[in-house]
Amino acid sequence: MVQVLEKKLQEIFDKQTMYQWEARKTTAEQRAQKLMDLKEAILSRMDCFVEAASLDFVTPASTAQNQIYSVIQAIDYAIENVAKWMQPELVENPQDGEAYVLYEARGRVCIFGTWNSPMSVTIHPLAEALAAGNCVVLKPSELNPNYNKVLLEVIEAVFDEQEVALVQGEADVSEQLLKLPFDHFFFTGSPRVGKIVMREAANHLAAVTLELGGKSPAIIDKGYDLVKAAQNLVFGKVLMGGQFCISPDYIFVHKEDITAFAELYRQMTVGMLYDDGKIRSVERTQIVNEQHYKRIKNLFEDALAKGAVILSGGAFDDDKRLIEPTLLGGVTAGMLIAEEEIFGPLTFVRTYTDVEEVLQYIQANPKPLALYMFSDNENFQQQILASTSSGGVTINGIFMHNTHLPLPFGGVNHSGIGSFHGIHGFKMFSHNRAIYKVN
Ligand code: NAD
Repeated sequence: MVQVLEKKLQEIFDKQTMYQWEARKTTAEQRAQKLMDLKEAILSRMDCFVEAASLDFVTPASTAQNQIYSVIQAIDYAIENVAKWMQPELVENPQDGEAYVLYEARGRVCIFGTWNSPMSVTIHPLAEALAAGNCVVLKPSELNPNYNKVLLEVIEAVFDEQEVALVQGEADVSEQLLKLPFDHFFFTGSPRVGKIVMREAANHLAAVTLELGGKSPAIIDKGYDLVKAAQNLVFGKVLMGGQFCISPDYIFVHKEDITAFAELYRQMTVGMLYDDGKIRSVERTQIVNEQHYKRIKNLFEDALAKGAVILSGGAFDDDKRLIEPTLLGGVTAGMLIAEEEIFGPLTFVRTYTDVEEVLQYIQANPKPLALYMFSDNENFQQQILASTSSGGVTINGIFMHNTHLPLPFGGVNHSGIGSFHGIHGFKMFSHNRAIYKVN
């Protein structure tokens, strides 16, 4: 079985090794056309994707559709800009000639995806890798078998294997792919597996992009409108059941605001999820599988057993694998929830009296993927920006730095290496070749 798999992957890799020299010569019009074909193939299967997302784990239709539309936007953005991105970038000319940077395709790219937002972690980077003129192998997560069937249909309808191939399977398939000397590995997933990918990529000195996760903090300045802060932060946990790499993981609230904030968090949760006291389960994303459900429930139970208290929520539906957005207080070091990425609809508050306590805590922990702050005070905002690091930041909102395509999206160290989205993805999937011509 392993040999059959090895042979199949080697076959695809050999085809792409040959074809990469054609792919890199394609014009902006040809690349834009491929992207348009990709977009059409996705849109014409919208209903199939929505149904598949609900079969793999219960995902509201609106969430599944929004994930697709956000990727369609990224494809459109690449179509619009690919000709501009491909232009050589002139630098200051030397006295005896000219100098410029040529963005040339890296060659063969392998993309590994997660299950939580299967279109964004596979097709979005694919679009930018294609804009840069690469050949690509996609390996989506094994936890979306139904979604992967539709993705495979799309890829097969638009591409020959020598340009783009999609392979399915568990970690053993990823391990086999990592043995092949791709020019670039693009991995979305946990820091644990990210380290494996980086170690294996080192064997071929392949470039890597690691889109990882971690514990993303939110900070509410004293005096900020708590209604707005609670609205955003509850939404940050309702969307995809908190199974989103940039979901706020924990929240710093000023000591004097904690009672009011907890009450507002409870009201917002009820407002977003309930109708006349009845849960609107149709709006809720299920926890992906039993293992993750137990993992999240264990974070909750461990915290309560060690002295944490429920400030809002706390309801678990074991049969449906649904968890109410839950806010905990009294979380201390040594509780699992304080150490591990939550990746679910739980969150906890840490109270502060002086912003220095907030800064010290964030500085003492691995750099997060996202950081949220709610403040109308420019000095406060600048102080937080200057004294912390994170992949990205949204001020007075939620997730926006991820959806604005001109901004790079990625982590820093423990939360990731390298960024994509728009021109940043195009450049990341390109080698920046220095050209010096003597006249
Ligand atoms: P994961 O690391 O368990 O799996 C990701 C991928 O790695 C899957 O395709 C899986 O098949 C593969 N894999 C598993 N074991 C492997 C091994 N030993 N060798 C090679 N490949 C292996 O992550 P997950 O549970 O699917 O996703 C959750 C994590 O992903 C969270 O940490 C979350 O923050 C992160 N995430 C990050 C982003 C981002 O854009 N930064 C987006 C979504 C999720």
